[in-house]
Amino acid sequence: MARIDDLPPLREVIASHGLSARKALGQNFLLDLNLTARIARIPGDLSRTDVLEVGPGPGGLTRGLLAEGARRVLAIEKDPRCLPALAEIAEACPGRLQVIEGDALEVDPLAHLTPPIAVCANLPYNVGTELLVRWLTPPDWPPFWRTLTLMFQREVAERIVAGPGDKAYGRLAVLAQWRCDARVALSLPPGAFTPPPKVSSAVVHLTALPGPRFPARADLLQRVVATAFNQRRKMLRAALKGLAPDIEDRLTAAGIAPTERAERVPLEAFCALARSFER
Ligand code: SAM
Repeated sequence: MARIDDLPPLREVIASHGLSARKALGQNFLLDLNLTARIARIPGDLSRTDVLEVGPGPGGLTRGLLAEGARRVLAIEKDPRCLPALAEIAEACPGRLQVIEGDALEVDPLAHLTPPIAVCANLPYNVGTELLVRWLTPPDWPPFWRTLTLMFQREVAERIVAGPGDKAYGRLAVLAQWRCDARVALSLPPGAFTPPPKVSSAVVHLTALPGPRFPARADLLQRVVATAFNQRRKMLRAALKGLAPDIEDRLTAAGIAPTERAERVPLEAFCALARSFER
């Protein structure tokens, strides 16, 4: 039985298992094990943590996570062609890697993992944002995960960490920063992937806070922010007028000028505005 460090290079794995990348599955593989080890180290010590990995593909990041000492890894992969390569990794790490063939949008990770849980993934672009929003908006907080370490297109990463006044500031920034610390941990050029995508990528690291930075009901905050940024160029008194007839008074009470635009409103003020809808 091979040990993890004795497994063949990923280019060989791809060739021997016929894993030509499929665009429809968002397949841009990381084949440099030094790079996957760097990503696996971003969440810190994982020796007492279970890891959820979405879209392991041929297993580069999976190998990184296991070699860096993750207690267990649950890897959910939609493409059955990847399963034999992943089975070889599982064999090299007895009891530490469980692979589920399926759609990450439909698998409940808590049925398979024991907290504390970290999520670490080079996400398929087509479902990345949807998964992130899901992980950021569970019915209860804290969520099932402690940290999210996720690869996105650079432009999406910027939308997660942007602040008021930044061009990229919007719903994703508010949702992420309301209950998490969020930072860009690593930037990667297209050439880091096989095949190279058209755009640069970045790894975002989010740490769940024990509670929200400012009080607000999650459903109300989400509604206010989604409506405000839906027409981001409009003044808020116009963009939000469908929410309440007295929206100008509510904006003023929340410390927001009714003529302000969503892209300049800080998180705290959005929370104050959301609270006005509790009454
Ligand atoms: N983690 C690998 C790496 O870094 O080389 C592969 C990353 S690739 C960007 C995304 C992977 O997600 C592909 O292997 C693809 O088959 C898989 N995938 C796509 N949609 C998925 C879904 N809904 N659920 C689970 N895996 C999915």
